[in-house]
Amino acid sequence: MTRVLGIGECMIEMAPAGDGNYAMGIAGDTFNTCWYLRQVGDLALSVGYLSAVGEDDVSARMEAFMREAGIDPILARRADRTVGLYLISLNEGERSFSYWRANSAARTLADDLEALPELEPGDLAYFSGITLAILPPEGRLRLHAALARARSEGVRVVFDPNIRPALWETAETLRSEITKAAAAADVVLPSFSDEAAAFGDATPEAVATRYRAAGAELVVVKNGDDTVVVRGTDVALEIAPEPVAEVVDTTAAGDAFNAGFLAALLRGSDLSAACRAGCHLARQVIGQRGALVAVDEMDLGEAAGR
Ligand code: ADP
Repeated sequence: MTRVLGIGECMIEMAPAGDGNYAMGIAGDTFNTCWYLRQVGDLALSVGYLSAVGEDDVSARMEAFMREAGIDPILARRADRTVGLYLISLNEGERSFSYWRANSAARTLADDLEALPELEPGDLAYFSGITLAILPPEGRLRLHAALARARSEGVRVVFDPNIRPALWETAETLRSEITKAAAAADVVLPSFSDEAAAFGDATPEAVATRYRAAGAELVVVKNGDDTVVVRGTDVALEIAPEPVAEVVDTTAAGDAFNAGFLAALLRGSDLSAACRAGCHLARQVIGQRGALVAVDEMDLGEAAGR
């Protein structure tokens, strides 16, 4: 059975419930992708999530949430920390986010990481620019080393740059760390608007060319409702997402795309079918409010086969 190991930070989400109260949820970029990988209904896939939590009740609740979603938690426990939290504010329909994550347990996830656990050749290790941004410099080095060792043993490394400038020390560190990670990945899944802002790329093709030149095998550039651009050795594809009737909430669109894309690839779809599956899953997610929403598990196969 193929295994996907997500690596990163999962947080508590407080979202306005509309009555002055807040509803508590659990989400985080790499975690969202793992969650959607389980939702698309491929029982031949095992999904793990590597992170760190505290020893308090809310950490236990997060762990239970992962198990209930069919994800194996692989969590270091830190007695002196707890999980990070974000709160969504709604102002005339516009969402803004406030974060309490500067001291979160997840920042220590690589503190004693020697090797990525429970991965065999052909399995996937999945991480993001947010995973790297939250780690201290020595944690980044440990994670890079563990990923490189796993890759040399046949694990495929998948990286979403998911650029969040506010999480990085400097713009220069952001660019050098993201480039280093992409260079050591088999698949890079950037979003054009983030890349254009951080690296000055004029087009999605320029994003792909830059990461290919750095050493990435395959680059899939997402671009909102615009064409997905795919570049690799002997690969040049453009896939147009189908329009959405109503964009309700784009939170986790990119994370869901990644899940649909990877799930289809793992089922043996070709790259264009995998992109269509990614677009199809993302489309369902942006039509509903929230990061983790119900999606139709049968739809993925139909989308990929179209
Ligand atoms: P992110 O959420 O990471 O910023 P994007 O905004 O590029 O990523 O969107 C990721 C994917 O979600 C796109 O490749 C596309 O498949 C889908 N998507 C996003 N916005 C729309 C939209 N308005 N209409 C249709 N699909 C969309």
